[in-house]
Amino acid sequence: MGQVHIVGAGLSGLSCAVHLADAGHSIALYEAAGQAGGRCRSYHDGQIGRVIDNGNHLLFSGNRDALDYLSRIGARDTLIGPTRAAFPFFDLRSGESWTLRPGAGPLPWWILSAARRIPGTGVEDYMRALRLARAGPGATVADCLPRGDAMWQRFWEPLCVAALNTAPEEASARLLWRVLRESFGQGEAACRPMIARDSLAASLIDPALKFLRARGAEIHFNRRLRAIGLVDKRARVLDFGERRIQLGDRDWLVVAVPPNAAAALLPGLDAPQDVRPIVNAHFRLPAPPPVAGLAPDLPILGLIGGTAQWLFLRGEIVSLTVSAAQALADRPSEEIAATLWAETARALKLPAAPAPPIRVIKERRATFAQTPEAVRRRPPAQTAWANLALAGDWTATGYPATIESAVRSGRVAARLVTE
Ligand SMILES: Cc1cc2nc3c(=O)[nH]c(=O)nc-3n(C[C@H](O)[C@H](O)[C@H](O)COP(=O)(O)OP(=O)(O)OC[C@H]3O[C@@H](n4cnc5c(N)ncnc54)[C@H](O)[C@@H]3O)c2cc1C
Repeated sequence: MGQVHIVGAGLSGLSCAVHLADAGHSIALYEAAGQAGGRCRSYHDGQIGRVIDNGNHLLFSGNRDALDYLSRIGARDTLIGPTRAAFPFFDLRSGESWTLRPGAGPLPWWILSAARRIPGTGVEDYMRALRLARAGPGATVADCLPRGDAMWQRFWEPLCVAALNTAPEEASARLLWRVLRESFGQGEAACRPMIARDSLAASLIDPALKFLRARGAEIHFNRRLRAIGLVDKRARVLDFGERRIQLGDRDWLVVAVPPNAAAALLPGLDAPQDVRPIVNAHFRLPAPPPVAGLAPDLPILGLIGGTAQWLFLRGEIVSLTVSAAQALADRPSEEIAATLWAETARALKLPAAPAPPIRVIKERRATFAQTPEAVRRRPPAQTAWANLALAGDWTATGYPATIESAVRSGRVAARLVTE
């Protein structure tokens, strides 16, 4: 085996590199940006005066590939999460609070207990999930479920927006069913929520770079691939502008970049191109707030009836997430900050004034729009070129565009290289 050239040091490229380096392959990793992590990164923010993440990221105990990746890079213990699955919620309109606690087994007996159901919902509301299981490939979530009732407002819509970053009116019903099957459908062992204790970089990125360097991998930052020389059904040349690399007969290329960048490099590639933004606002409070209802081993709160869907607390930093945020992302950051600070103050019962230091991060290309049509267009890792594989959360992993999908895609591409 020759050298494996991996383009893109997001989680898909890192996962591919980790699998291959683990198996003793020689790796060269190229990243256009000055740091690794792509859409899952951290940085020191001058305004906030702390290391912050580009956005809150939630993992689940059923994310097998992601957890295997963390174990390989020696960072499994950097995630925190409760030993029992529990999701606290707060309704910003009514002021009601509740905690969703899925049962231990795959059969949802817990829905028979009114005390454990979401306020305002009945058993039949949960049984309608089966309509997603029977959905055709072209069906949206809204095609399958009644809109506007308590179950829609307090479960289906927030779940769909959080899991698929796509409004239920356009999101793929089959893909949401896949999420339910792999999380709630496996019982609480698979749906315990987990987050990075210190930062995304400290959990998912820096340990991977350390792991790769220790195995002799070359890692190049500020190295954007401009074009690929494709001859006789093989990738032959990597063109980085000022530098060109010839690929030997036994070399491989793994393209682990977002779909728009992949389509620019590979003419004729059919890939989902429509994207949806995620907006995050980070607030630095004077001190960690005393918060009733938030567990120390999982300081997150689901928000209903406002703009944001999730609130994360890390020390004195409160971060709010708005997914499927097309309309919000076009508004000025000051206006977004004011709206999200009002929701934070209400949810955490803090004085509304003065507003603390704020950073708003708009990730305009957070994920592809996970519509039925886009899901059909996800390509496999294998391409028409014999030594070229694709990786990325947008490839055909069967899973929504998430950390799990990105890491899985890297493993699949690595397997293709080693077969
Ligand atoms: C705000 C936000 C919140 C999210 N929340 C969650 C969550 O709660 N849970 C979850 O599981 N997932 C979440 N995600 C999704 C998750 O971050 C992504 O699915 C994952 O990081 C994608 O990894 P990737 O490697 O496929 O792509 P990317 O991270 O986009 O990596 C691709 C890399 O390729 C580089 N690149 C592009 N073009 C070139 C080129 N020509 N040459 C060299 N390098 C190039 C890019 O700079 C980038 O580093 C969230 C994403 C965002 C943005």
